[in-house]
Amino acid sequence: MKITIFPGSFDPFTIGHESIVRRALPLFDKIVIMIGYNANKKSFFSIEKRLKWINQIFDKEEKIEVRVHEGLTVDFCKEVNAKYILRGLRTSSDFEYERAIAQVNKKMHPEIETFFLLTLPEHTPINATIIRDIVFHGGDASMFLPAGLDPKEFKPDEKN
Ligand code: ADP
Repeated sequence: MKITIFPGSFDPFTIGHESIVRRALPLFDKIVIMIGYNANKKSFFSIEKRLKWINQIFDKEEKIEVRVHEGLTVDFCKEVNAKYILRGLRTSSDFEYERAIAQVNKKMHPEIETFFLLTLPEHTPINATIIRDIVFHGGDASMFLPAGLDPKEFKPDEKN
């Protein structure tokens, strides 16, 4: 079984993330989307909402599983028996950041390969920080969010 994980904070999950996952589907038998959780870091959207939204987006995809993980990504790979880590690349700054993590991971865990897919050109400027800003100020971010989600649910939580 060729299993990859797709780790991220997904705060929130955007059409850019969705596109990377759908394009990677033919390459793997299973994709485990890992929502990284850090108890010491405050997120904008609660972990419950993020989990629900991603499950909703891939409801009909049997090859996709969504999980929450706190700790090192490579430890999660071992837990779900994944030999691959999938990441998306938008810009050269993404590349530099990702290169360092992937090379350190490779040094420590040579059995795990990191894979990169370049974003579609139209998704390059989409990033979760800008979407959070739009939502925070009461704007409509729905054009950047996967289809089928309720835009009314995209409002800041009082407490995460
Ligand atoms: P992290 O905080 O770990 O970078 P993100 O949720 O921001 O997590 O992103 C998860 C992955 O999705 C990363 O590999 C990131 O480069 C990629 N990604 C983020 N936004 C886009 C986008 N618009 N198009 C393609 N890939 C993206």
